[in-house]
Amino acid sequence: MTTPLPTFEDVSEAAARISGHAHRTPVLRSRMIDRELGVQVLFKCENLQRMGAFKFRGAFNALSRFTPEQRRAGVVAYSSGNHAQAVALSARILGIPATIVMPRDAPAVKVAATQGYGGRVVTYDRYGEDREAIGAALVERHGLTLVPPYDHPDVVAGQGTAAMELFEETGPLDALFVPLGGGGLLSGTVLAAGALAPGCRLYGVEPAAGNDAQQSLREGRIVHIPTPHTIADGAQVTHIGALNFRILRAAAPEVVTAEDAGLVEAMRMFAMYMKLIVEPTGCLGLAALRTHAEALHGRRVGVLVSGGNIDPARFAELLAAPTAP
Ligand SMILES: *Cc1c(COP(=O)(O)O)cnc(C)c1O
Repeated sequence: MTTPLPTFEDVSEAAARISGHAHRTPVLRSRMIDRELGVQVLFKCENLQRMGAFKFRGAFNALSRFTPEQRRAGVVAYSSGNHAQAVALSARILGIPATIVMPRDAPAVKVAATQGYGGRVVTYDRYGEDREAIGAALVERHGLTLVPPYDHPDVVAGQGTAAMELFEETGPLDALFVPLGGGGLLSGTVLAAGALAPGCRLYGVEPAAGNDAQQSLREGRIVHIPTPHTIADGAQVTHIGALNFRILRAAAPEVVTAEDAGLVEAMRMFAMYMKLIVEPTGCLGLAALRTHAEALHGRRVGVLVSGGNIDPARFAELLAAPTAP
């Protein structure tokens, strides 16, 4: 009845599938940040991944595994964020028709980006219609295959390739900080770390406004919360996935939180010290490391920088207002 959990072998196979399509993103360092934190920090820069976030890895891996019939009928995803663009771009590369279900009031830039990758955008009324029902109808009527953003073994295995590349490049690390929304990235990281860096302490980082994963791991059940108010829109979820919960529960990573003000400060550090544009959700790792730096003094610590998709005007606005984002 229950799906078997993905393993490190699935991550290795995903790495072979995405090779030549996904970028092997750089691991960057900053003397300034090392000095400021008293920690040797290694940043895995998925903000420099294709379409601007690690989500390309999971989406491409999942779509690569479609049967010929699934490829012909097409894929459907519902998302207004990075998963939508990841599915649209992967589908275009693989020659699969993609339908993306987005709220009618989704930012025009995101709709345009998804359409730019060749995705057909179907909109719905966020307040009056149920996107899952719309997705289910498309699956039912046109035989489309739904690819969810995190609660899927092929997506998890694909996301695990980011940490796999990091460990291959750096060797074992003392700790690794990973942004945490629905849990796809952290579950994949668990699989990679288990095989390549078993001594590495994993930290999942949630926005302080919505610590549902922290509560879920404490209570031993998936806790649902109202949509959290945070600038970390990529981690604005009401609960972690069922498959993700099973993986995380077994691995028991540390789950910590970061405040929005800390995300803005991390965003500024990336811009000033490393000349990197990182979206607020991508700043969760560095923001949390800053509050745990003392305990990790002198250690080698990885930070997974998950994405860089932010509207330039929004980026400027956040940096101009450090304490009141
Ligand atoms: C989706 C996303 C996350 C959260 O990933 P999950 O797999 O849902 O935990 C973090 N950062 C960015 C930039 C994202 O797009």
